[in-house]
Amino acid sequence: MTYTASSNVDGQSVLVLDDDSAVAEIITAMAISLGAQARFVCCADDFFRELDQATADVVIIDLQMPGRDGLEVMRELGTRGPVQVILTSGCDSRVLETARHSARINGLDVVSVLPKPVRRTALLAALKAVQVQNDSPKTAPIDFGSLAITAEMIKEALTNGQIRAHFQPKLRLRDHEPCGFEALARWEHPEMGMISPGVFVPLASMAELDRELCEVMLDQSLSFLAELGDTDLCMAVNVPMRVCAEPAFPALLDGYLQRFDLTPARLILEITEAGPVEMAQGEIDALTRLRMRGYSLSIDDFGTGVSSLERLVRIPFNELKIDRYFARDISTSPGAAKLVRNLVRIAKSMDMSVTIEGVEDAAMMQLSRELGCDIGQGFHIARPMPAEMARTWLIEQAGRLPV
Ligand code: C2E
Ligand code: CA
Ligand code: CA
Repeated sequence: MTYTASSNVDGQSVLVLDDDSAVAEIITAMAISLGAQARFVCCADDFFRELDQATADVVIIDLQMPGRDGLEVMRELGTRGPVQVILTSGCDSRVLETARHSARINGLDVVSVLPKPVRRTALLAALKAVQVQNDSPKTAPIDFGSLAITAEMIKEALTNGQIRAHFQPKLRLRDHEPCGFEALARWEHPEMGMISPGVFVPLASMAELDRELCEVMLDQSLSFLAELGDTDLCMAVNVPMRVCAEPAFPALLDGYLQRFDLTPARLILEITEAGPVEMAQGEIDALTRLRMRGYSLSIDDFGTGVSSLERLVRIPFNELKIDRYFARDISTSPGAAKLVRNLVRIAKSMDMSVTIEGVEDAAMMQLSRELGCDIGQGFHIARPMPAEMARTWLIEQAGRLPV
């Protein structure tokens, strides 16, 4: 059944799945009254059939259903690519948190969890959270299957300057002083517009162009850092494990630092790993060797289920980075906050500093500090921005640069 919003407030498309048609209808009507375009279905088969016909900005899923329950639906949904989800349930908060975690492992983005009966104000807040994410810089709503990005195109973009480093500030939570930036890749395509790294980095990786991407990012980000002059700011660059393990990588890094006259302590290598968690001794040795040369190592995306505790223990990381999907819940979920506090404790016992990603408001920044995190990064502080804007931002932060 489909309704259309009469007052087009935001036109968000919402698909509700609840086995109780009366409940489904109420939630749908509420969403419509809030300005969304909502429709509902009452079983998993209809749900996937609906999604095959038209995508939704967000799906609202009931956890408890006869037949395929919410957990099973989320597992299947996860195989279709990233989707934003609102969960509803009459279960207690522990069950909801576990379900939220399971959704995340399936690659889903759980925007909110609503206890039943669903209240209008709670639904409004949840739908607004979806809106916030849609507001983030448009980064190519691209369907992998239909988009013809070839390895050749990426190779060319890496050499013709279309792939640019943007810089997102990192702030010391103790005194709110900037302490560095993370370099994030953007592909400024003349016809397709800005293409997100979430789209092209995995493709570059499949085309075995990780090292080339890494070189472009090192070149642009270290040149930016050098131009800032005499500061103690650090630059964090994302590097897949596989690139770090290349025998020639340490010499390559040394070359870049010499060229820009920077010390290794100014560079943080954020080790990303998308593959299985299996670790080869060769990789551990390669990372240890980089540490011995004075480079800082950060374990990226901690909390997403990819970066394992084993990795944390066996590799001499300097920094633990708590992923934004995980960090986001600390204000609303006592379990998430408790876990962050414990992670901080583990990190501190291993002499590591903790950076928390996805700091989206002042309350979260304050809480991150209270939980013991050292450094914050997120839209509340600043979005990733091109070099010139990042430089201006820095100057505005109390004139840290020599004029
Ligand atoms: P990441 O390393 O976890 O990077 C942080 C991501 O979080 C960035 O997305 C950033 O824009 C986003 N972010 C920062 N603050 C907030 C916030 O407050 N709220 C929200 N909702 N998001 C925030 P981005 O730039 O789209 O990058 C996505 C991923 O692509 C990165 O995740 C990283 O894994 C990969 N990536 C980006 N640049 C490179 C690169 O040069 N090389 C490699 N290998 N991977 C890269
Ligand atoms: Ca990163
Ligand atoms: Ca992350």
